[in-house]
Amino acid sequence: MGMIMPTEKIFYEDINRTEFEARVLEVKEEKKGFRVIMDKTCFFPEGGGQPADKGWINGIPVLDVQTEREVICHYLKENPGTGVVKGKIDLQWRIDFMQQHTGQHIVSGALWKVGKYKTVSVHMGSDHTTIEIDSQQISGADLEKVENLANRVINRNLPIEFIMTDEQGIGRFELRKPCPVDGEIRLVQIGDFDCVGCGGLHFENTGQVGLVKATGIEKIRGHARLSWKIGLRAIQDYRQKDKIVAELKTVLETREDHFPAKVRETQAELIQHKKKASLLLNRLAAMMAANLYQNRQGSGDSPMELIIESWTNEDNDLIRRIMKDLLKRHRLLICLVNTMKETVYWSIGCSGEINFDFDRHKSGLLALINGKGGGRHPLWQGTGTKAEGVEKFLTMFRDLPEQI
Ligand SMILES: [Zn+2]
Repeated sequence: MGMIMPTEKIFYEDINRTEFEARVLEVKEEKKGFRVIMDKTCFFPEGGGQPADKGWINGIPVLDVQTEREVICHYLKENPGTGVVKGKIDLQWRIDFMQQHTGQHIVSGALWKVGKYKTVSVHMGSDHTTIEIDSQQISGADLEKVENLANRVINRNLPIEFIMTDEQGIGRFELRKPCPVDGEIRLVQIGDFDCVGCGGLHFENTGQVGLVKATGIEKIRGHARLSWKIGLRAIQDYRQKDKIVAELKTVLETREDHFPAKVRETQAELIQHKKKASLLLNRLAAMMAANLYQNRQGSGDSPMELIIESWTNEDNDLIRRIMKDLLKRHRLLICLVNTMKETVYWSIGCSGEINFDFDRHKSGLLALINGKGGGRHPLWQGTGTKAEGVEKFLTMFRDLPEQI
């Protein structure tokens, strides 16, 4: 790059400028696109926790913007050519990240003022902005104070100033946190509220942030990390939650302040119903098992007796309980099959001291229903996908005792 002069940064001179003309100084094709250097730019490069601007140069999308020493490099999808080009930044994207960034300054300032919470790290995600503090936790009361103070600062519409200073001048400012000074330094001062060193992009007034709202706390590395919805995102979040509440009002048939009580009540009822259903299923299973046992078939001279039954669309839980009940009896070889649509649910059990070697017959049986599954003495179970094979499956099972 050698001879190329530092890029003139229009974004620092005029934050509201979205369109500009600039002279292309160099274009190089690289892996991630055409790297374009111009004499000046409105495109803010990634840095200081802020993402790069998006937009277009001669109508070609700008994929990324990075700083290499003092030179700003734009990465484009296509070659924009040489000479003078027209640049335009994506204003919606710019406003969103300025709301996130400026909002974060205000929230970090409020955290400091409310409880001397220091901001340790910040992350601007596409969904929300997180602020990690140097404390393990923050109380609900403190968090509300922080929200109120931050929104009060937004409502006061304080001026936000960008100040250039140096080692000598920095003593005049009351900084929220110390910052290293190496030559010139850029400070961001929000009225009489907050002052820190920062090279990012900010609005001219706090009112432009609109609104901030904390939406969650999680623990990370022994610190509390707070999620924030800032600016338009806070409104969108409110809108979405409003929709959910409206839907729940219909579903739960109650006012929103009654939701928790209503849900707890419904959960308690559900537990009662489940208990009752389980009790009734056991009773029904016992009756059906007794009936099956009465109709069991002897098996020639073999001391073994057979129970074979199949159902269509029966409750699999009920069948499991029937099997469990039958396994308590003696000298039985049991095969229960349930067909639901195209799926065959099979289970095979043997009770008492019968030594049934399922693995010996497994492949022959399961081939008939295109089945899979297994188990170990005294119970084997699985599924199959060939419902029309059930009859053959049962017939083959009926003949098994002859071979044992
Ligand atoms: Zn900043």
